[in-house]
Amino acid sequence: EEFCRKLPKVELHAHLNTSFSMTFLNELLRKSGNLNGVSLEDLHLAEAKPLAEGFAIFSKLHQVFRTEETIYQLTHSVIREFAEDNVKYLELRSTPKHIPETGLTRDIYMQTMVRAVQDCQKEGVDITVRLLVSIDRRQGVEVAKIAVDLAERWMKSTQGLVIGMDFSGDPKVGDASDYIPVFLDAARRGLKLSLHLAEIPLYKETKKVLQACCGHCVLRIGHGTFLHRYESNQGHEEIEDLVVQWKIPIEACVTSNILSKTVNGPGSHHFWYWHRKQHPVILCTDGKGVFGCLLSDEYYRVAKEFSLGREDLVSMALSTFDSIFESDDLKQRLRDILRSFCEKEQ
Ligand code: 5GP
Repeated sequence: EEFCRKLPKVELHAHLNTSFSMTFLNELLRKSGNLNGVSLEDLHLAEAKPLAEGFAIFSKLHQVFRTEETIYQLTHSVIREFAEDNVKYLELRSTPKHIPETGLTRDIYMQTMVRAVQDCQKEGVDITVRLLVSIDRRQGVEVAKIAVDLAERWMKSTQGLVIGMDFSGDPKVGDASDYIPVFLDAARRGLKLSLHLAEIPLYKETKKVLQACCGHCVLRIGHGTFLHRYESNQGHEEIEDLVVQWKIPIEACVTSNILSKTVNGPGSHHFWYWHRKQHPVILCTDGKGVFGCLLSDEYYRVAKEFSLGREDLVSMALSTFDSIFESDDLKQRLRDILRSFCEKEQ
């Protein structure tokens, strides 16, 4: 457990609003007296519940984090907490909110996140952070286009601190393939894409998106629970073939998937399928607050379940560096950090 905590790691799938810590929420509650009518217990999944219950929690969180100040504090504390867990590189994603009652605009939301990242940098927090702008599929294609414009503008004005887009939100709402032109447009503007795909068995939209985007976008897949060949998806083998052919990294959120009941247990998680195939797969938290897991917990859980030793964990961490949306120089820096960690551990 201690080894997993000390291991230098990258976190590539973390939603800002679901990544709070209980310490942070308690502090917020102490300072402001209440959490806009939401109770602490309502904000995390203590036991496995259907995916819809998770989305009910996300809405409550959006009632809590509604002002520039709380978004700043949340971003700042989430970054610090990942750094304390020895995450050396973090891609943090969030849906920019427009909340007229509190004066929050999507632009102020971006500015606030960026300011928190830059302040952490100035304060010497030992982590490199990049931001992804989320598209919420419940909000429709027009809002998605606004998000792409916003991301491009902030990518340019921050010299690449904003680095790409995330596509998420309730997979039961809308059709991901409606967003294909938006994805291609974002990629043309130089934005990298992490798309929630096949989180539930939606073979048609998954296939269409992959067929359209592979080869045109720098791409990773969030969750990807139903991409691989298994007994129920016969006739959809093309999905796995595309993922393999284009070597698309998969962000595997083990605890989140188990608590959201899209996967039965750690032993049946698709992480192992891809890992055994030596396909790029990265352990991620998804929302360390809602799902109550640190990234080191995810490594420990997998190590225990699949009897992985220290060397396995080191090579697993090493392999994740190739999937970051950043330059070869930064990948090399991460490898150097890991090498000196291993030397110290010997
Ligand atoms: P935010 O974008 O507000 O910082 O983070 C919360 C949002 O991320 C949710 O409202 C939802 O759109 C998205 N999200 C967080 N976790 C998940 C997940 O497990 N699956 C999907 N599809 N979307 C998620």
